[in-house]
Amino acid sequence: MFPFRALLIMLLALASPVMAGEVAADTDEMGPELLEDTTGDAGSRSGEVVAAAEDLPDPAPVDRPAVPLADAVNAAVGPEEPIEILGTEVMPGTSQRLSWSATELFEGVPVSTPVLVVNGALPGPTLCLTAAVHGDELNGIEMVRRVMHNLEPSRVSGAVIGIPIVNVQGFRRGSRYLPDRRDLNRYFPGNPNGSAAARIAYSFFTNVIAQCDALIDLHTGSFERANLPQIRADLRNPDVMTLTQGFGSMVILHSTPAVGTLRYAATRAGIPAVTLEAGGPSQLELNEVKLGVKGIETLVNTLGMVRKMRLWGEPEPVYYRSSWVRADNGGILLGNVSLGSTVRKGDLLGTITDPMNNARTELRSPYSGRIIGMARNQVVMPGFAAFHVGIQTDEAPTDDEAPTDDEAADTMSSSDDYVDGMSE
Ligand SMILES: [Zn+2]
Repeated sequence: MFPFRALLIMLLALASPVMAGEVAADTDEMGPELLEDTTGDAGSRSGEVVAAAEDLPDPAPVDRPAVPLADAVNAAVGPEEPIEILGTEVMPGTSQRLSWSATELFEGVPVSTPVLVVNGALPGPTLCLTAAVHGDELNGIEMVRRVMHNLEPSRVSGAVIGIPIVNVQGFRRGSRYLPDRRDLNRYFPGNPNGSAAARIAYSFFTNVIAQCDALIDLHTGSFERANLPQIRADLRNPDVMTLTQGFGSMVILHSTPAVGTLRYAATRAGIPAVTLEAGGPSQLELNEVKLGVKGIETLVNTLGMVRKMRLWGEPEPVYYRSSWVRADNGGILLGNVSLGSTVRKGDLLGTITDPMNNARTELRSPYSGRIIGMARNQVVMPGFAAFHVGIQTDEAPTDDEAPTDDEAADTMSSSDDYVDGMSE
């Protein structure tokens, strides 16, 4: 626990300038994605992709403790301290289920969501697990439940805070979005005077995330796409690198976080963060859940917070680059590969058949690599991102690297490049 840092973060958050969230990036690219989500009305389309990029405050970096995350347990001295969170004091060696409400009243009804706190008996860092920032992403909810209930407070060094359902309004509707069609994961660190999304983000960031010394944000693919279980991380940050190396054998993809994502805001505030992607939305996929739980428990072990070995096979490669292969025609997409397949340049990834004239087109891989994400079989429109190919390179990323196509979309370097749902 580093409470002084938490205080600093809160002060900085309070001092943050306005984060206006009213800029819609309405590009052609979004058409297919929008079709997949039928929960809203056509009139709210622009709200769907409100990208708060332009006016997001750049959270001033907070000094992390001099100790790297990798040494946090060994460097911690004295007894573990109580955690003060959400108006409650959680004593060392105990666990509690608290609740966080973004607003006193939402649509006239209080909306609260559980915050599970395991405060270990021994000192150490606070690791946070967040899931369902997108309300239709179910795998992470079950991962958080399993990890939290497997922890014995008497054996934990430091603390683990788990929030199984961050976007409870979206979860109730089976939707990725907030009720106003905004993507909560484009509004962090939030703004107490902004839109509903910005206020919710602000409340969550200041009341919960500010307590964390490290963060794992759990996601799945979006819009009927599934991801091979993978860690997405900015590998240029040493503490983020420590996190990625703790998961055992899981695919790692270097990715610069999109502005406004929880991963982006947390890391900028000095809290190293990674995204764990596994599977697709709207389903509970047991294999993905088990792999994610195993990865998180391995991380907790690697950081020295719990001593319980988990055995893995060969380590997975790190992908410093990736690229999406898009449909050039509309029609029925059928995949010819599966998640995790190794492909060579020119390999057939899938076919798209026009149901009207029976014309069939082929999607072939422009790269040699591995399928780390792909669309489920479905009807697509031209431009739909169908296959995500991880490309193995030898070089580690540098600060002045040219971004890949995907990263350009990811980082929203210009709003025209932004594609809704392509990153966490
Ligand atoms: Zn997501």
